[in-house]
Amino acid sequence: MVTIDIIGGGVAGLALAAGLDPHRFEVRIHERAPERHDLGTVYGLWPHALRSLHDLGLADPVRECARPATGVRVSTSTGRRLGGGTAPADSWLIQRPDLLAVLGRAKPAAVQSFDGAVEDPTTLTGDLVVGADGVHSVTRAAAWGCPGRRTGAMALRGVVNGDIDEFAPGDPWLQEFWGRGSLFGISANTRGVTNWFASMPEFRATKSEVLAWAQHHFAQFPAPVQAVLERVDPERVLLNSIMETPTLTRYVRRRFVLVGDAAHAMSPNMGRGACEALVDGATLAQCLSDFPLDVALREYQRRRWGRSQAVRAASGVVRRIALNWP
Ligand SMILES: Cc1cc2nc3c(=O)[nH]c(=O)nc-3n(C[C@H](O)[C@H](O)[C@H](O)COP(=O)(O)OP(=O)(O)OC[C@H]3O[C@@H](n4cnc5c(N)ncnc54)[C@H](O)[C@@H]3O)c2cc1C
Repeated sequence: MVTIDIIGGGVAGLALAAGLDPHRFEVRIHERAPERHDLGTVYGLWPHALRSLHDLGLADPVRECARPATGVRVSTSTGRRLGGGTAPADSWLIQRPDLLAVLGRAKPAAVQSFDGAVEDPTTLTGDLVVGADGVHSVTRAAAWGCPGRRTGAMALRGVVNGDIDEFAPGDPWLQEFWGRGSLFGISANTRGVTNWFASMPEFRATKSEVLAWAQHHFAQFPAPVQAVLERVDPERVLLNSIMETPTLTRYVRRRFVLVGDAAHAMSPNMGRGACEALVDGATLAQCLSDFPLDVALREYQRRRWGRSQAVRAASGVVRRIALNWP
């Protein structure tokens, strides 16, 4: 029986655990924050992520608690249209806790869960140690020696009460407004709330100072932005530095393998990080199921490295264009 330690029970770690046959793999998941506190912000799931969910037998349970994504529009801060279009068929919006709940329910009962942070991954005894521990991965730090890096941008985001139609009647599910070195986005959500996010160059300030800055800075942006800002509840706001994983040429090193943000954390501007994390988890499970361990890891590297690095690079380009819009 192959033993596998998975560090991190987020999107990638749970997708991997859901895809491993408990008769062939002894799996242990280590999660530092099993009681999740989340605002209920939404992920866009694109068709390739749905295909991975389908392979795990989870596409329908996800669709049941998600909402179809329809279209995207990008405009300037004065409302002039820059681009947009219809979302591809089988694109969905789902709250992170709902996605994690579906993945968690699919985890075989034999998987052992350990609550608490792993400080040193080299002390774990698994034949394979999977770093599914996000952008600040201790696995990457221990085996690759490279920490995540700041992009110089930050994101303020949250949810407000009310469906998207109350803020932007008849408009697409996602709207972004670019200009004045910043962007503001509004997207549909489920459960009667609407998602919003703002991004700007990073400066040192508290969350409430950044929120006050944003309320002033975006005051001239189009009406839907004003409607959202009027309803913002400071208790339902998150502030993050936007971090990226430095370019890695390999996701496998000795008995360590990286999945999700640990391998390729990217700017959120293409809404793809969780999708790539899902595909990583499902692909690694498939490779481990189909091949002996050494071949499986080579195959995982071959299937996932190029694609995920391309999306990471493209997301960085979109961030730079958006935040440099005049
Ligand atoms: C502003 C913003 C908006 C985004 N919007 C989208 C979007 O629309 N669509 C999309 O696809 N993606 C989006 N993303 C990206 C998405 O959130 C991530 O890419 C995704 O969560 C990565 O999944 P993961 O499993 O790799 O990491 P995570 O989901 O971060 O999970 C890592 C897990 O590891 C645990 N952990 C960490 N360290 C340890 C340790 N030492 N010991 C034990 N456990 C540990 C953590 O508690 C966590 O549960 C967005 C990100 C941001 C910042």
